Amino acid sequence: MAYRTCPKCGYKYKPKEFYVKVYPKSINHEWQCTNCKTKLSFNLINSILLLFIKFIPVLTVNKVMTFAEKTFETPFWLNISIYVILSILWIFGVSLFSKFVVVKNKKH
Ligand SMILES: [Zn+2]
Repeated sequence: MAYRTCPKCGYKYKPKEFYVKVYPKSINHEWQCTNCKTKLSFNLINSILLLFIKFIPVLTVNKVMTFAEKTFETPFWLNISIYVILSILWIFGVSLFSKFVVVKNKKH
């Protein structure tokens, strides 16, 4: 499956361009394809799925913290700091698997 790709012309957004032009926008944001100017939006089902995957670190924080404390015997503040940084990287990484759809003109 094609991620970060325009469904119309097949233009693939590089991660940097994706983060700068598309990612800061909201989930129902519409923008023009860099290449063919087609109006694009996020694939909703894909977005919801990615949202759940992004929340995995939030759901597992308790278990991971307990594990890290017992295994590495590192202080809590250090564990939580590393975990927060990794979670942010995780969220950005998961976003790279976004899919786009062509926006159809709404009928009135
Ligand atoms: Zn395009």
